[in-house]
Amino acid sequence: MYKTIEQKRKFYDSGDWKRLRTEVKQRDNYECQPCKRNGLVSIDTNEYSESAGRKKIQLVVHHIKELEDHPDLALDIDNLETVCVDCHNREHDRVFERNVNKWEKDERW
Ligand SMILES: [Zn+2]
Ligand SMILES: [Zn+2]
Repeated sequence: MYKTIEQKRKFYDSGDWKRLRTEVKQRDNYECQPCKRNGLVSIDTNEYSESAGRKKIQLVVHHIKELEDHPDLALDIDNLETVCVDCHNREHDRVFERNVNKWEKDERW
């Protein structure tokens, strides 16, 4: 079960997750899938944003069906897709409108 922050942190720290995350990004060609569906391409770059203090585009591997609700799909590659941080925020805003803060750091560890 992945109900608490600690349980989730442990999951996102696990070797299994790290391996799978790389596999998903490779499968998706390091492109944001929602952006791609909208005819845009967001790829991970090494371009550095001074103002943000990090790389301009960051990719996150997102659980289509949430980890918390579907722990059995946690390591199911068909339940994972590569998204950019912008799309990721949108996904979670849409689904978890009332709990935005809860998901702020999710999947970025
Ligand atoms: Zn995107
Ligand atoms: Zn997500």
